[in-house]
Amino acid sequence: MQGQNPKYECLLFDLDDTLYPLSSGLASAVLQNIKDYMVEKLGIDKSKIPDLCNLLYKNYGTTMAGLRAIGYDFDYDEYHSFVHGRLPYENLRPDPVLRSLLLSLPYRKVIFTNADKVHAAKVLRKLGLEDCFEGIICFETLNPTQESILSEDEDDIEFVGLSNNADAASDIPATNANSGSEIFDIIGHFAQPNPGVALPKTPIVCKPLEDAIEKALRIANINPQRTLFFEDSVRNIQAGKRLGLQTVLIGKSQRVKGADYALESIHNIREAIPELLEADMKKSEVAYSGKVAVETSVTA
Ligand SMILES: [Mg+2]
Repeated sequence: MQGQNPKYECLLFDLDDTLYPLSSGLASAVLQNIKDYMVEKLGIDKSKIPDLCNLLYKNYGTTMAGLRAIGYDFDYDEYHSFVHGRLPYENLRPDPVLRSLLLSLPYRKVIFTNADKVHAAKVLRKLGLEDCFEGIICFETLNPTQESILSEDEDDIEFVGLSNNADAASDIPATNANSGSEIFDIIGHFAQPNPGVALPKTPIVCKPLEDAIEKALRIANINPQRTLFFEDSVRNIQAGKRLGLQTVLIGKSQRVKGADYALESIHNIREAIPELLEADMKKSEVAYSGKVAVETSVTA
């Protein structure tokens, strides 16, 4: 084994429901806040919310991306602060086990989340993991506006691609000039499909769009062939796999198509993926069986 290049050079991590368990309750609170935003801020009829959320999430990656696609106009920062402003962050506790695990793995480590940078920074601080990553690719990284570039204020966390001279910055306005245009009836569109009518495109770049993953890999200078991608979302895993990433589905004990590994918890990294052990360690006897190798208690 000596003298060979290690199989991996980078570990790419989703944030929410990957670095902490789904049971913390943040995901369900986010969903409720999104629904409240749609009713209170966008004036959408309450009876349409479940169907609309489903269709937007399925077709556009995030509800936010879908809302923009079908014609709603709103400020991204306002949306994010509404959706993330009232979350039970107190349910997230420092995770020293995960912290020492991450720090012991001699690879580049990068966060890749659809969430905004305020939320990402807050979650990492609550988990005590803010010094474990080289950088964060977040909503603002993939959707730069002049405003988000100039208002970088998270001083102790590195946000990839967010700087005053970021050449990745485009001129996407924070709010679109399309206000006043008609809202596309996506519920009607799927109830009575008309082959002549195409779904409108979204201006927002987010997982699981392959464009989003390609952009993230480019910005962070990541070689997908030598990167392990940790995600709780099956469709993000599958999109990552199509782009050549090695994939680890988190929160499930059964692999799905597109997942090279499945782990009940991020705490099980070492047990399930022996290649991650340091090059100078004796080759592990642990063989991945398709099931969780070791159930680790979760500190949360
Ligand atoms: Mg997630």
